[in-house]
Amino acid sequence: MNQKNHTPIVIIGAGLGGLTLARVLHVHGIKSTVYEAEISSGARKQGGMLDIHEYNGQLALKEAGLFDKFLEIINEGAQASRILDKNGNILLDEPDDGTGARPEVLRGDLRQILLDSLPNEVVQWGHKVQSVSSLGDGRHEVVFTNGSTITTDLLVGADGAWSKVRPLLSEEKPKYVGTMFIETFLFESDIRHKASAEAVGDGAMYALAPGKGIVAHREPNGTLHTYVQLNKEKDWFDTIDFSNSKKALAHIAKEFEGWSEELTALITEGDTDPVLRPIHTLPIEHKWERVPGVTLLGDAAHLMPPSGEGANLAMLDGAELGKAIIANPSNIEEALITFEKQMFSRSAAEAIDSEEILDLCLGESSPQSLVNFFNGVNLAV
Ligand SMILES: Cc1cc2nc3c(=O)[nH]c(=O)nc-3n(C[C@H](O)[C@H](O)[C@H](O)COP(=O)(O)OP(=O)(O)OC[C@H]3O[C@@H](n4cnc5c(N)ncnc54)[C@H](O)[C@@H]3O)c2cc1C
Repeated sequence: MNQKNHTPIVIIGAGLGGLTLARVLHVHGIKSTVYEAEISSGARKQGGMLDIHEYNGQLALKEAGLFDKFLEIINEGAQASRILDKNGNILLDEPDDGTGARPEVLRGDLRQILLDSLPNEVVQWGHKVQSVSSLGDGRHEVVFTNGSTITTDLLVGADGAWSKVRPLLSEEKPKYVGTMFIETFLFESDIRHKASAEAVGDGAMYALAPGKGIVAHREPNGTLHTYVQLNKEKDWFDTIDFSNSKKALAHIAKEFEGWSEELTALITEGDTDPVLRPIHTLPIEHKWERVPGVTLLGDAAHLMPPSGEGANLAMLDGAELGKAIIANPSNIEEALITFEKQMFSRSAAEAIDSEEILDLCLGESSPQSLVNFFNGVNLAV
């Protein structure tokens, strides 16, 4: 192998997890290269609002030396939460009084802070992994679909749910949990969709019933970003013609017949083509035997139902792996043992919680179950 193509530390995936790792290493003078499938940072709109928690995402940002930059991109007031029933009655309303521990930021803004904090050459865009293989002695070869090939001493799979690196460590594949999220956007809602804007309020709104829900966040400029949630098998969606967005949305809205109009408008009035986001998971205690020279972090390691923790966990993983390497640069295997031990127990606990949260939202006792959760009622009683 040509020595030119050898990179000591390779991170696959420029999501929040991979970039946090690259940044923490960079702060301590350790070089890494991030290979990302997308052709540029602006190739795709980056999700919506993320609440960044004191006990994971914020710790990672401090470790990355980016906490001050993070404070600058917080959307004030967006921590407000409310729960509605299907008739639009407010069952719980928690305004953002400025004392919350989980400020909301746009995912794209957060990713940009990380990208801006790295030298340009660190992220290699347009490098989609085609295959990975072991060369022995803990080294690996990565082949990209653009025809290039590299070798590395440490390969980190931060490449999300459908990781190409994971098969080096584990035979597990993500499984569909039976819940589909359908993403819609309403723009300029304060002018064009006043009733829906009022129903959503200043932050997050959960309108729920057993097996279905309409969950929306207010984003800057009056954008309402909605995840319609339905417990349905994937083939139910195969019967819908998504080439006609309005018809497809009307079809989905039929599942919400009898719900109040300001809620169903979040579906039927969508300004963009609806995007299906099937929810997949890895097993709760997903782990692997140590394989020299390779590890995983974030969704690649522990994919779970959305519970507001996934991006936070990916960032903490990145920071913790960075710290472990910095503490033990001459013995990467020791560093990986330390990192994985902590990650396995941290992510198993969060995976259990995330399944419970999905049940609180869409289970038989919804929406009261989520109200009780917010109110701190002991659910075991
Ligand atoms: C509908 C929904 C809502 C969510 N809401 C929240 C929330 O509110 N809060 C929260 O904390 N979490 C949330 N999550 C979870 C969160 O999105 C993930 O846990 C988080 O993005 C994981 O980060 P990551 O860096 O591990 O992976 P990703 O963000 O998936 O990044 C992986 C990167 O790898 C790249 N990549 C993939 N394959 C390849 C390849 N073959 N070659 C090269 N590059 C590749 C991708 O392009 C991507 O840039 C939500 C998830 C979903 C589905």
